[in-house]
Amino acid sequence: MKFKCIDECSQCCVEREYYPNKEFGKIGVLILPEEKHRIEEIGKKLAIKVNILPRIGVSKSRNSKPKVLAYQMMGIEKNGNTCPFLDTSGDNKSPHGGFPCNIYNDRPLACKTYPLVESNPITLDEKCKFCKEHKTANENLDSEIESLLKIKNEMKTNASVIWRYATNIGEQEDNSYFQNGWIVEEE
Ligand code: SF4
Ligand code: SF4
Repeated sequence: MKFKCIDECSQCCVEREYYPNKEFGKIGVLILPEEKHRIEEIGKKLAIKVNILPRIGVSKSRNSKPKVLAYQMMGIEKNGNTCPFLDTSGDNKSPHGGFPCNIYNDRPLACKTYPLVESNPITLDEKCKFCKEHKTANENLDSEIESLLKIKNEMKTNASVIWRYATNIGEQEDNSYFQNGWIVEEE
């Protein structure tokens, strides 16, 4: 089965999830440290406000400040949804008829990877509409595989402590669950 976006779908640029749970708030699009400045500069040029928070940090011990291994670009809605670069004006369409990305050629590596979550065996994100309809695909995923391997390579670490950043962003009714800032995930 060849992977191809479902007609008119923009779900992965709109919906953001709680990960790993509500305590951490909703996550944004993963941004590698080397991508952060570039994405912020594109935002400035397009006069689009971009909010990039830390996502994963590493340190030698609990007592040392985490070094950021990955950031995340938050959605523009109060509940954390909708990427700032998604053109929701309705004036333009993506090639498959969804809302287009304003920075498609310069989009983050994580966007180039989606919906692939594993390359061996090929595993697609269950939330992707294509995956819901077809379960999996084995063609037309070469660039996604390449991007995923690059991200995995960049995220390799021997650090003793892994931290995850709680964004404090999500649905209003879930407010009481949210933490804010770095939380130790593994040591
Ligand atoms: S990758 Fe999946 S969720 Fe995203 S637009 Fe394509 S079909 Fe929709
Ligand atoms: S940068 Fe573009 S592709 Fe990535 S989530 Fe935003 S709108 Fe979608």
